[in-house]
Order: sequence, then structure tokens, then C-alpha cells
Amino acid sequence: MSDGSNKVVVVFLGPPGCGKGTQAERMRDEFNLYHIDTGNCIRHEIKSNSPLGQEATQYTSQGKLVPIELVLKVMASAMSKITAEQAGFLFDGFPRNVEQAQGFDAMLSGLDYSLDKVLYLSMDRQALRDRLVYRVSCDGCGAKYNLKLNPPQHEGVCDRCSGTAFTQRDDDKAETVDVRLQEYDKETAPLVALFESRGVLVHIEADRPIEVVEADVRAEIKSACHRKGAGVV
Ligand code: AMP
Repeated sequence: MSDGSNKVVVVFLGPPGCGKGTQAERMRDEFNLYHIDTGNCIRHEIKSNSPLGQEATQYTSQGKLVPIELVLKVMASAMSKITAEQAGFLFDGFPRNVEQAQGFDAMLSGLDYSLDKVLYLSMDRQALRDRLVYRVSCDGCGAKYNLKLNPPQHEGVCDRCSGTAFTQRDDDKAETVDVRLQEYDKETAPLVALFESRGVLVHIEADRPIEVVEADVRAEIKSACHRKGAGVV
């Protein structure tokens, strides 16, 4: 049995582009939490051309969810890497449908963890499209930009490392973004009511300045950590 019972478990829920990843990245160091970004884990498998990645790529390239067996394998492997010092988990991009939520429950209880909070970041649809379709990252240092909403100070030059090459994620192309948003509505949106009925959902309006959203997210994570006696602050 792991020492899971005092580790905090927080899920970020919301449509692609709502800022789950950005908020999770900001919180993980502050609270010493282990950030599991499912999309990144899957992209890593694809990049390393593992058998799992080879199977996943046909789904991700079309903006579709990858099958649950693959996702649960990726998650089990990621979760086993938490260290004794880390105060808990920030899940970003998982669970993404009702079936995955059931698998998640089973995984958590098998490891003696329990779900503390689901932070639901909601956002207007057109704003989401703009966030995704114009999103790029610097090839040199990974800094993220949005060419419409938050471009580099000098066009085509990274503010952080002065690199001049930027990459758009394949699945951020306009047609694929539309499929991803439809998948969200069909598969993931029902989780809002599910977690609400379980009393763990906190609704945070994400269509506000990033620092304002961050303040709400921080307060929720802080209270979850205190309640569980996990972590610092
Ligand atoms: P994201 O980076 O969260 O937008 O995820 C990128 C892609 O990875 C998605 O469009 C899916 O193809 C796949 N993916 C990420 N998380 C999941 C999940 N929990 N279940 C199934 N597919 C996922």
C-alpha cells in the first residue's frame, strides 16, 4: 500500500484552451505537486514511437480521444512516479469522459488516494478557438505564445531566448480544433454534472485575466492541501 492517503488529488476540468495547463504549471512548484498532463504524456509516447504512441497517433491527429485502455496505462505509469516528498497530484486532461472517471475512481482507491477537488475552468467558445488556433511555442526554449492575444514583443523573435523558430501543435490547426471542441461537448462536458453531484466541483470562470483566475485556483488548492494536511504553505 502506498502512503497515498495524505496526498492531495486535484483535477483540472475544462475545454481545450481554457488554461488548465497554464494554471497547473503555475501551481505545481508553489505547492510541490506532481502535474500530470495527459496530452503531454501521450505526445511523449508518440514522439518516442512506442507501441502505445503508434496506436495513439491516429486518434490525436484527428482530435479524437484515444481509447481508454491506452489512457489508463499512461496514467498508471505516470502516477507511479510521484515521490514521497510531493504533496499530491494535479491532473490536467484526465479524466475526460464518464468511463475514464470510473477507471480513475478505481485507480485512486486501489492506491489509497481520494479525490479532493475538481476545478472546472469554463470559457466562451469563440475565445477558446482563438486561444488554440493562434497558439505556438518556441522551438528553442518552449516559451508559449499566442500570435493574436499574446505575441512576442518583436514579431518572430522569442522574448526569452531570441529564437526565431516557432511550432504550432498539429492538433491546433483549425479543423482539428473544431473536432476537439465537439469531443469535449460530447465526452467531457457531462463530467461537470457528475462531479457536481459528488460535491467536489468548484466552478472558476476562466475568461478573466490570468492572474485573477490564478488567485482563485491558488485559494482552492491551498484549502485542499490544508484539509488533507498535505504540503506546505
Ligand atoms: P490536450 O493536450 O489535453 O489537448 O490533448 C491532446 C490530445 O491527446 C487529445 O485531443 C486526445 O487525442 C489525447 N488525449 C489527451 N488526454 C486524453 C484523455 N484523457 N483521454 C483520451 N485522449 C486524450
